[in-house]
Amino acid sequence: MLDLKFIRAEPDAVRAAAAKKRIPCDVDRILELDVEVRARGQRFDELRAEQKATGKAMGKASPQERERIIAQQTELKAELKVLEDEVAALKAELQGHLDRVPNIPADDVPDGVDDSDNVEIKRVGEPTSFAFEPRDHVTLAEGQGWLDTIAGARIAGSRNYILKGDLSLLEGAVMRFALEHMVERGFTPLSVPTLVRTEVMYGTGYFPGGEDQAYRCDERDDLCLVGTAEVPVTALHAEEILPLDQLPRRYVALSSCYRREAGAAGRDTRGLYRVHQFQKVEQVVIDIADAQRSIEHHQAILQNAEAVMIALGLPYRVVNVCGGDLGQPQVQKFDIETWMPSREGYGETHSASRFHDFQARRLMLRYRDGEGKVHFCHTLNNTVAASTRMLIALLENCQLADGRIAVPEPLRPYLRGRAVLGQPL
Ligand code: AMP
Repeated sequence: MLDLKFIRAEPDAVRAAAAKKRIPCDVDRILELDVEVRARGQRFDELRAEQKATGKAMGKASPQERERIIAQQTELKAELKVLEDEVAALKAELQGHLDRVPNIPADDVPDGVDDSDNVEIKRVGEPTSFAFEPRDHVTLAEGQGWLDTIAGARIAGSRNYILKGDLSLLEGAVMRFALEHMVERGFTPLSVPTLVRTEVMYGTGYFPGGEDQAYRCDERDDLCLVGTAEVPVTALHAEEILPLDQLPRRYVALSSCYRREAGAAGRDTRGLYRVHQFQKVEQVVIDIADAQRSIEHHQAILQNAEAVMIALGLPYRVVNVCGGDLGQPQVQKFDIETWMPSREGYGETHSASRFHDFQARRLMLRYRDGEGKVHFCHTLNNTVAASTRMLIALLENCQLADGRIAVPEPLRPYLRGRAVLGQPL
């Protein structure tokens, strides 16, 4: 959420942000409502003061005056009630608008409508070339008896799957490797709830707007399944005022992630690319409100994820996500896209975002500076490894001519030292 004071002072910056992000935002109505709320609020305070004064006058009043004061008080009470209801309705409308105001994108966010306008800023490694006809991950995994999407669909509907045998172990190996990689870099590992209160979805910027994408259990229990550990981890210190000497906080969490993928009908229907449930290791940074320091954290969390891909020998590129492909809360986002031979292209595997105080303001996540002043924190997050897309990249890039899979060296300790998985197909 943006500060209303900022919107008042810089309405054109908000208009430009909304245009760049292609997010509807009625800045004029916000300013109008703001003026009305304040004017009525002022009138309310005046009438309250009058009400108090008449109450005081009552003590010294003669019987005739008392009657007049009582009539005046009845009138004031009715007027105050009307004003109170009006202010409440206006405030609710204003809040509804404020909840949808987009954060201001950084100047170097490229203009564009969708992901086809994202700008490549870096390429590492060459697309894998094969001296044989490569198989796609479904053919490989099914051929090895490692993947059952039919049972997955029978048990849980389409876009669900069962991983079996070595593929299930490989998933565990990648997740564990990613987690330990971050612990080595000083991140504190957390195990977090994945069923969270609806207000936490709001606090992290997923609601309003993202309700369609979340599995909700809120009718009975006011709880939602998260799409990412970013949600519970960023909310860990909600309502707190953190001491300066305990910042930055760097956290990493492995969790199950749940995505409804509403609106994705017909897209990526084959295999493990777009599924309803997967595992993800996520990194989150919470620090002081300093734009330059946020940029440095952003580079660092991107580099943390790149180091995983480099260690595994997977070819990837980094893109600067364009305005139209940015979400409401982000200031900027860099995606890592990894080479996936079956797509004959790069597929998104990581998203590194910085938010400034957009999430912190909603979460009431604050810190006290050296002079004792309280500010909202800055927050950032990035994927370290998301299970199914990492499995696609590993199966397809590391396949041997006979359909077995060469295990990248860093994963071998998690697979009892094995260098190759599967049988010749
Ligand atoms: P996001 O939080 O949407 O930026 O996603 C972070 C990462 O999670 C993506 O870069 C993907 O690697 C992975 N991911 C997101 N949605 C899905 C999905 N439906 N199926 C599999 N992986 C996903």
